[in-house]
Formats: sequence, C-alpha cells, structure tokens
Amino acid sequence: MDNHKNVPFLDLVTPHVELEAELTAVFRRSLHTASFIGGSMVEEFEKSFAAFCGTDDSIAVSSGTDALRFAIMACGVQPGDVVLTVPHTFIATTEAISQAGAVPEFVDIDEQTYNISVEGLEQYLEEQCSRDQSGKLISRRSNRPVTAVVPVHLYGQMADMDEILRLAEKYGLTVVEDACQAHGAEYYSRRLHRWMKAGSMGSAAAFSFYPGKNLGACGEAGAVTTNDSRIAGKIRMLRDHGQAKKYYHDVEGYNGRLDAIQAGLLHTKLAHLAQWNARRRELAAEYNRLLAGNDAIIRPWEPSWSRAVYHLFVIRTSDRDGMIEHLKQAGIGTGIHYPVPLHLQKAYSWLQYKPEDFPVATQVATEIVSLPMFPQLTATQQALVVNAVEAFSERAEIESVSLA
Ligand SMILES: *Cc1c(COP(=O)(O)O)cnc(C)c1O
Repeated sequence: MDNHKNVPFLDLVTPHVELEAELTAVFRRSLHTASFIGGSMVEEFEKSFAAFCGTDDSIAVSSGTDALRFAIMACGVQPGDVVLTVPHTFIATTEAISQAGAVPEFVDIDEQTYNISVEGLEQYLEEQCSRDQSGKLISRRSNRPVTAVVPVHLYGQMADMDEILRLAEKYGLTVVEDACQAHGAEYYSRRLHRWMKAGSMGSAAAFSFYPGKNLGACGEAGAVTTNDSRIAGKIRMLRDHGQAKKYYHDVEGYNGRLDAIQAGLLHTKLAHLAQWNARRRELAAEYNRLLAGNDAIIRPWEPSWSRAVYHLFVIRTSDRDGMIEHLKQAGIGTGIHYPVPLHLQKAYSWLQYKPEDFPVATQVATEIVSLPMFPQLTATQQALVVNAVEAFSERAEIESVSLA
C-alpha cells in the first residue's frame, strides 16, 4: 500500500486556487496603495463580518487567541479573577484567560454536544462557590472571585446559550463566546424566539481565521464581535498599543492589529462562507445517513435548537487508535481534537486537577476521531471514508465476538 493520500484530512489548496484571480487582486490593491496594516480593507472586512454575524460591530485583530484575550479584558475581567471554561477545547481558550491575568477553572462537558454542561455549570455555581461579605461570588477551590464564563462552540456547534446566559445573569457573570470554530453556526433562542448567529449572544465573542477554520486567512487573523460600543472601543485600543489617537496612550496595549492583505483575503472569502457552511452541513448529513447503522461508533448529535457548521466531524469509538491506523492504511487522513484535555496537560499541572474531576472530558478524549470534513470533499472521497470506517467496525466486532 503506498502512502498517497486518497482522502486528505483537509484540503486548503483547492479553495484558494478556485478563487485565485480574486485573491491575487487583493495583493495588487494592497501593493498599489501601500496600505499594509489597518485601513480601508480592514474596515470593509469588519463591517461585512459584523453583518454576517448579526452584530453591531466587529474588530479585526491578529489572531483568535488575541481576540479572546482582548474580549476577556475589555469585558471587565480583572487580574486574579476566575474565568470558567471547559477542559475539552484547544489550549488557546485558557491561554487567553491566563494572559488576561485571570485564572481558568473548569466545568465538565456534556457527553452529547461536547460543549459545556449546563448542569455542571449550575452545580459549580451552586455548590463550589460562596459569597463574600460584599456579595461577590468566590470560588472555594481558589478563593478568588468568579466573574466570567467562556463557552466554546466546539466543532462548529453552539453551546446552549439560553441556559448559560440565564445562569450568568443569576450569578452576575460576563459571557465571552469562544466562537473560533463556529463562524455562521446558529442557535434557536427559546427566550428571544429566533435564530441567532454564533458570536451575537455573549457580551463579546472571539473568532479565529487560522487557515483551517471555516473562514480562514492566508496567515494569522482573528476578530471580536460585540453589540457593545464601549467594549468595541476598548478592543480597538488594546489591539493598537492602547491608543485611540496616535502616540496618546490611555493604557498599555498590545500589537494586535490585522494586516490589510489578510482582511482583504478574508473579505473575498467571506462571500463564499454561507455556501461552504451549507456544503459542510450536507456532508455531515450524508455521513450521518451512511453511518447510521453502525453501532460501533457514536455520531455527532445536533439538538433541535442547533444548526452546526461542522468545523469538524467527530465520531467516537472504543478502539480509536485502531480506527485511525486502519484509515491511515486506506490513505485517509484523520485528526484528534483533542487528545489530552486541558486539566491533564503538563502546562496546567499547577492547577492540580485529577482525571476524575472531569470524567466526561477525560473519557471522550480517548475515543474521539475527526473524519475528513471540508467543503471540497467529494462524494467519492466521502464514500471511501465511510467504507473504511465500516470495514474497521466490522472487523472490530468480529474480534470482540471471538474474544468472548
Ligand atoms: C483556533 C482556536 C483558537 C485560537 O485561534 P488562533 O487564531 O489560532 O489564535 C481558540 N479557541 C478555539 C476553540 C480554537 O479552535
């Protein structure tokens, strides 16, 4: 068997080659105007991205991690505060919390959606916190004030925002969405009786345009969305050395601006995002249909209030490493998102969590496999993936029967 990939995990060449003329025009415009950082291309992209998300504003920054850090800071989280999030996410979520001067604490995920467990959050707030004399919510674990929660819309499916916002209101927490995997995902708000886009429900939300995301730049890029003009203003200062007027610095900020070329490329690609997301949903429906009879795997679950955009299509199986090896032999690329939950990462050993503190996240990390999922995936390629998954599942079943 040769090592040629029959089905790559991700194809980033085709979508760019398809748009080559439009994308190279962006470079030309940037060269001819010598506008490289900020400027009209950034402003145009910010307007169109805010419109896409259904928010009043969007602020383009240099990465998703910076977007999250600036959003957390601008929403009023103070150094030393606790910010709640999940252990089943990319480390950028907690890096941003720490870099804002806060301390992450975790709440386990829901086994069906892989997003923050609402019961877990409620239980944490009720049982693991107390009030100090001034009425501040204090974490018993760290004796620090708990001031914010960062739900992550993982794999392109939104967390249960109505419930999270209800608890946040009840306990006085700020909500910052990590929408880095969820550009265009939708949530049916039972409170507002309408569909809402990812990034439009919290006080602010962070998006990443890392090349492999549903909307990707040709380099590093990110954005914050918000309906709050005060938060937007603070983020514009934070990304630009704390200045609103050149060389007049109200605060110390960061070098977190977006390149004009990246903004132009993103603006061009944004026009295709809805169609790309629709194709991802079609592919997910087809995976679900073709794999429906397979009892050896657990497929993604979409609640009735969710329209996920399938940044990743993640299944679960007891012999995860065996399945990955089998698919590899068939020339099929896969991924694991993510193999080690954050509470068990060496970087967070100082938080002194144990595996059993978050049993769902700990278990799921040993069983998940991400199958190829990108808008240009063909029906033929998808059939190869499905056949390989089916062949492995049958073999695994036979083996387990013969063992018994
Ligand atoms: C990609 C990602 C980030 C960070 O984005 P960068 O642009 O790589 O800094 C944050 N959170 C999640 C969930 C992500 O997937």
